[in-house]
Amino acid sequence: MLSYQHAFHAGNLADLQKHALLAELLAYMTKKDKPISYIETHAGRGLYDLTSAEAVKTGEAAQGIEAYQKVFRSDHPYLAALAQVRREHGSNAYPGSPLIAAKLLRPQDKIHLAELHPQEHQALTRALRAPNISIHRQDGFDLAQSLCPPDPRRGVLLVDPPYELKQDYVELPKFFRQIAKKWNVGVLALWYPILSSAAHVPMLAALTEDFPDALCHEIRFPPVREGHRMIGSGMFVVNPPWGLAEAAADLTHRLHNAGALG
Ligand code: SAM
Repeated sequence: MLSYQHAFHAGNLADLQKHALLAELLAYMTKKDKPISYIETHAGRGLYDLTSAEAVKTGEAAQGIEAYQKVFRSDHPYLAALAQVRREHGSNAYPGSPLIAAKLLRPQDKIHLAELHPQEHQALTRALRAPNISIHRQDGFDLAQSLCPPDPRRGVLLVDPPYELKQDYVELPKFFRQIAKKWNVGVLALWYPILSSAAHVPMLAALTEDFPDALCHEIRFPPVREGHRMIGSGMFVVNPPWGLAEAAADLTHRLHNAGALG
């Protein structure tokens, strides 16, 4: 299907939650010198321009990162990645998750990214070039299945599908079960939207049954425009590193105090 384009949504509150937690997670994982693997199943284009026609049309970044960048502590790794990208690409640039990972990881770490859409894939190959980065124009679920358990064995998998196919909600718990069986030490993160239809609820129930010790962090926010169905977002993290739960609670607290949450 591939009609979803992240350029319309880059930098919104859901991205802010996902990218801030991803940055914290990678900061914890890179405290040890040992190399890690980073695998992303649905990478997007990596670099966004918040003055593009798509971003301006929805105004989502204006109600997201542009309004709430100020809530982060000054040494937050998300801000560090954002600042580095803006130094290189200008003040309207916004990094997608692959570029945040590339900024926070080290040359000894391995990055594998899957993106199926031809234009997004092409843009991604322009945005990220380094000897430790492999970009695959391939189904992200297939890529993860073929790589896991990866080498190096410590590492992170981020799954961030567009949820265009209702079947994704059904297949994702099975996919997580299979990957966790092959890669029991992997940190497995899933982003999901909270829609007014509550479509995520059965998926989350199945995931929680399989992974009772996982971290589940959700924020609720007002819809970006009247009638918009997304009223929040969640991150489900299997094998969360120590400290991530506190970082997630701190994020909620700061967004709440800034009036961002619904
Ligand atoms: N993770 C990105 C970020 O936070 O910056 C955003 C990714 S966006 C939500 C989802 C992307 O997945 C889209 O660019 C879409 O083209 C791509 N996509 C959709 N189905 C895919 C599949 N089966 N395998 C790989 N990529 C896919």
